[in-house]
Amino acid sequence: MHEHVPSSTDHRHDDDSHDDHSSLDRRDLLRSAVVLGIGAAGATIAAPAGAAPAAAAPRVATQAVAARAADAPPSLAPDPEAPADAPPGALAGVEVAAPTIASCATWGAAAARGTIDTVSTNPNKILIHHTASANVTDYSQAAGYQIARDIQQWHFANGWVDTGQHLTVSRGGYVMEGRHGSLSRLQNGSGTVVGAHAPGQNSQAIGIENQGTYTSATPPAQLWSRLVELCAYICDQYGIAPTQIYGHRDYTATACPGDVLYSMLPQLRSEVAAALAGSSWSVIVDNTSAGFAAGASWLTSSFSAERYGASYRYATPAEVSDLATFSATIPSNGSYRVEAWFPGIDGYNTSTPFIVYTGSGSSTIRVDQSTGGGAWLSLGTYAMTAGTRTVVAVSRWTQGTAYVIADAIRLTRL
Ligand SMILES: [Zn+2]
Repeated sequence: MHEHVPSSTDHRHDDDSHDDHSSLDRRDLLRSAVVLGIGAAGATIAAPAGAAPAAAAPRVATQAVAARAADAPPSLAPDPEAPADAPPGALAGVEVAAPTIASCATWGAAAARGTIDTVSTNPNKILIHHTASANVTDYSQAAGYQIARDIQQWHFANGWVDTGQHLTVSRGGYVMEGRHGSLSRLQNGSGTVVGAHAPGQNSQAIGIENQGTYTSATPPAQLWSRLVELCAYICDQYGIAPTQIYGHRDYTATACPGDVLYSMLPQLRSEVAAALAGSSWSVIVDNTSAGFAAGASWLTSSFSAERYGASYRYATPAEVSDLATFSATIPSNGSYRVEAWFPGIDGYNTSTPFIVYTGSGSSTIRVDQSTGGGAWLSLGTYAMTAGTRTVVAVSRWTQGTAYVIADAIRLTRL
């Protein structure tokens, strides 16, 4: 879409963003826009300090350990180095990885030449454009940043306050912020700046300019894969369905984004939908979460700093059916990695039974809890069916007298 030639009728983009003069501190926008990307969600893994009302001293399993323990009994004091609480039973939730997006400051944007208006409502669609500029074969980052600067100058020449579109993808697959403020709002997933890329849609459609002319040429693979990632990220951040991805010509009489790129929009919607569906879903169930249940024989301890969250549960082995259970809602049929977190202390049980329930059966995995604690330990990958149920249980039915531990579990869709 972008015409640097204001008389062109093919890409008429009216800057209809002049009515609202809400004052924005541009320095703040620039500062926040410098932040690149957002990592995948995940609960902070921390072993907190705090009161330790029921410390569970580890049983000692061997003579050597017994001797050592007698010399230096384990301290029951909270670990002063321990960081703040992990959120109990935190849901990591769905998160689509953000492609790296160069902010205006990174690619060297000029200052906007007027007020950039904003809306607090989230956009409801994505509009795809092409820049109608040359299909260059310089796929470098420098070339990407240059087209971003060129577009801004073209749009200044149209009399606009700033770059018209929200985001730009170069032929080499570099993603850049367009209009100042677009990136920070996208990262916050709240509101947007009013663009100038499609009359009537500038406050409700995120405009993406794709460098090149796609009337007869096909976009380079690098551009395409970044565009898919970018659209998936936008859809995730703003809650836009992948079906709401359109071409500029769907709203304005224009050839943009070119016949070829326009004909690829069904493919774009479907690849974005696949990216969203495949994004990693993850859930953590801690022993303090609502999804945890255990009988009275399972006592609570905060003895080990390797615990997940504030505490963990422990019990003595017994030939009884007395499970500590972790329940969760499996969102869809699919393959899931199942992991357990527990403090690994020399003296805890070396053969603790963990039972994984797939929805169509169960598997028992024996875990050595005398070592390797304070981290996620994989119990394997399982085909699981959707539904809410006990997904993992810890059993007391094992040998010896060393404590079995139930602390936290994590499921991740693969
Ligand atoms: Zn356009």
